[in-house]
Amino acid sequence: MPHALACGFFLRHAGSHADTVWADEAMVKRLGASDTGSPINQPSFLIMDIFEAIAKKDLHAVAALIKNDPQVVNELSPVFLGNKGPGDYPEGVRPLMWATFVLRTPADTPIAEALLLGMAAVKSDLNEIDVFAGRTVLHWAAYNDNLLILQMMQKFAAEHKLKLNYNQRDNGNKTPTQVALGKGFHQFAKIMAPERLKNAGQGPVHLAIVGMGATGTGLFIRLIRGMVEAPAVYPREVLKQVRISLIDSKTVLGRGMPYSDELNSSTSILNVHAAGMSIDSTDGADFLNYIKDKYLQGDLEQGLGEAGFHGLTPVAPPNPTGYYPRTFFGKYCTERLTHWIEVAKQYGISVDAYPTTVVAKVGKPDKGVMTVELKGSEFSTKPGAPTSKLDATHVFNATGHWEHKVKAAKPYETIPGCIQFPASRATLEAKGVFKQPTHVAVMGSSLSAIDAVFGVLLHPQVGHLTWEGSKPTYHPHVDLKSGKMPWRVTCYSRRGVWPKVRPSDNRDVDAKWTSPAMYEILRQVFNGGKSLDLKTCVQLLDNEMAELYNRPLPGVGAKPGEKKPLPSVMEMFDPLKLLAEGVPRNPWNLVASDVRDCDDGDSGSNAERPWVRWYQIIHGLFPVMTRVYRGWSPKDRADFDKNLNTPFLWAFAPMPLHSARILLAMHEAGVLDLFRTPEEEAPKPNADKKHLDYPYFDEVGAKKINTHEFLAITTGLGSDVRLDAGELTQADMASGQLTIQDQDAPDPKDENTFFLADDDSYEFLDVQGNHSPARRGVGFFSHASYFMIQAVPAVVGHTRNVAELYLAEFITRLLGDATKAIPEQKPFGRPGTGPQDQKSKL
Ligand SMILES: Cc1cc2nc3c(=O)[nH]c(=O)nc-3n(C[C@H](O)[C@H](O)[C@H](O)COP(=O)(O)OP(=O)(O)OC[C@H]3O[C@@H](n4cnc5c(N)ncnc54)[C@H](O)[C@@H]3O)c2cc1C
Repeated sequence: MPHALACGFFLRHAGSHADTVWADEAMVKRLGASDTGSPINQPSFLIMDIFEAIAKKDLHAVAALIKNDPQVVNELSPVFLGNKGPGDYPEGVRPLMWATFVLRTPADTPIAEALLLGMAAVKSDLNEIDVFAGRTVLHWAAYNDNLLILQMMQKFAAEHKLKLNYNQRDNGNKTPTQVALGKGFHQFAKIMAPERLKNAGQGPVHLAIVGMGATGTGLFIRLIRGMVEAPAVYPREVLKQVRISLIDSKTVLGRGMPYSDELNSSTSILNVHAAGMSIDSTDGADFLNYIKDKYLQGDLEQGLGEAGFHGLTPVAPPNPTGYYPRTFFGKYCTERLTHWIEVAKQYGISVDAYPTTVVAKVGKPDKGVMTVELKGSEFSTKPGAPTSKLDATHVFNATGHWEHKVKAAKPYETIPGCIQFPASRATLEAKGVFKQPTHVAVMGSSLSAIDAVFGVLLHPQVGHLTWEGSKPTYHPHVDLKSGKMPWRVTCYSRRGVWPKVRPSDNRDVDAKWTSPAMYEILRQVFNGGKSLDLKTCVQLLDNEMAELYNRPLPGVGAKPGEKKPLPSVMEMFDPLKLLAEGVPRNPWNLVASDVRDCDDGDSGSNAERPWVRWYQIIHGLFPVMTRVYRGWSPKDRADFDKNLNTPFLWAFAPMPLHSARILLAMHEAGVLDLFRTPEEEAPKPNADKKHLDYPYFDEVGAKKINTHEFLAITTGLGSDVRLDAGELTQADMASGQLTIQDQDAPDPKDENTFFLADDDSYEFLDVQGNHSPARRGVGFFSHASYFMIQAVPAVVGHTRNVAELYLAEFITRLLGDATKAIPEQKPFGRPGTGPQDQKSKL
């Protein structure tokens, strides 16, 4: 029988069961011609019977037909195997490829089930990647939020003792869970990891969140909202079985390291604008609403503290593009946390807060329970609470910035006036910085250095700012008692430049050559899936710049009358020739020109070298750079770290325009300088051991020395978590529960990120590489690599995903049925005909 008839037959049946069985044109075409154009020549009656049984949803008949004559699969193979014939595979093994095209659309379950049964008969590999599309069935299901297929495959795999590979990556380098999460199919992602749901029906839930900074707080809020706002899924009697313990070593929960009053002053400003700083992942405007409420209640001025007084942050209605003090953000997080603790309690969820409490150790999961060992004064005094241990069913690590191992102090750290940043105003006062006018040295010139500069120069005794429109003027205070010169600050760094200024136009540009998708394609095409080397990446960057600036490629001479070729990316990276020794430089001119560029945008005189564009390109490269960097050889990484990371740092951590203007005003007032220091020559204590001799190069490259009584060190926040001296990390490493490596890295020894689970959290891996799904984490701590460092918008995004997964686990544990956690799962019937549905079929 010609294949057209077979297709017609199938279609007829499909039509007669229009509401339950589908067969769209594309599928029929594929049945007729397959993805590669191999037609069915002479399908046997058996095949027709199989199609008929599929159409009738008679799975037993399908199974029986295949079982009775396994060879029938060979007849199907021209359709399902594409170019490959049955002889291309080992005896008895068939790839799954033949089924994937059916499963790639929101397929009707019986059809898929029939195909799976067929696979069982021929021992197919469930994890086979479809060579045409580069995806497994799991991927297809994930792309389509096809939960029923997923569950069926899981059941099928369990029954047939097959293993589904959840970590298999498609040609976009994504695991099925990443695909699902990327498309917002959280329910799918939950069910994707059945091992996380294995404690179904085991009873009460106790989650311990270790660390209540931005990450822990963001997770808690999302979890509580997820439960109390879905009463159909989480009725009150169920919520009574949920307990959450919030543990932090600090006295106030919700702050974390960069936003605490202990470590920061109100003159330290956020480097992400207000619109991006919501701690509540269900409500992106939450921080703006908080500011608005404070303003309307007349409490904003007090909340902003000195930042308001100096005009760093205007006491005005909320400004989405404004930058607010970090301590103000910390207060916001604490207030929101307090609010949601109250709400949780009203709904019967038990919440215990343990401030000033350190988690020293978390035991290995034993029958689904982990023992959390605690140390802390508050804890033991809590009436009725266990003295030093908690048993938790889930432990979430949000321990954030790590404590560095105390190495032998460097000589310059031994002077009494040495202060490690971040440090609060109170710490500076206690050290005696404001006793009398002095010249403070700041080691570093990054964002933390700016905190130190503002911490000193904006002290009420030292000076103040006035504003004319957007232009500030700095007024140094002369010490009336001594009549001495005002306080001064000099910053020193190897590069001798400030961070770049964040342009007000923050749009991302659509990268052509360096988008993650293009990078993946190039990687596949040029390097068999391996990372491209540094040289090739630089060429891609050159292409990108040329493309976006609409200029000839570097090195290609322009014809007379044409625009000059652009400088190469390398040159663009180093506009001041900062990397070349002995070249005169002036960081202030650079800041001033950045400020001008930000004000003017990329038009007019800026068109030749548009900085905003440059920023957008380099900034937009982060997603791909993280991947590229991790794939490089250790040598390429070292080359990059030495020669190229400055521009990325510039784009990764630029300073707010406001801060740049204030720095310029301070410099103009003669109280602030920034100099480059010799590469290998550290500052030295002088003979009295109380002062420091700091060597530096002046503007014309002449070597000089300044003497200081106070040194603010702002370079201490490294990015190697192996140096974490925290008891918990040390205990985890000692017990083999924590391995600091990334399994994807070509040389794991060299990689200092944790294993990042595909739900965007990380799970601890033991030395055997086994996950501990009961124990997760996210946030800064888990992203130790330079290119993985996460700011609030990112960690809050991660916590959203983790919370969704927890919510499913909780309900499964409590009610024994994972599907109860899926109130919004769409039914899978005949696919729609809208453009989106059409697209998803491709
Ligand atoms: C100086 C500085 C400024 C920054 N500014 C910004 C900014 O303006 N905007 C932005 O988006 N990002 C900023 N960041 C990035 C920062 O990483 C994130 O904003 C965010 O703080 C990360 O939150 P976290 O909760 O993961 O970590 P953390 O804030 O470090 O919080 C972790 C918490 O866990 C506690 N803890 C740790 N170990 C234990 C233990 N064993 N037991 C109990 N408690 C423990 C700690 O005490 C701490 O409170 C800044 C970072 C720094 C260092």
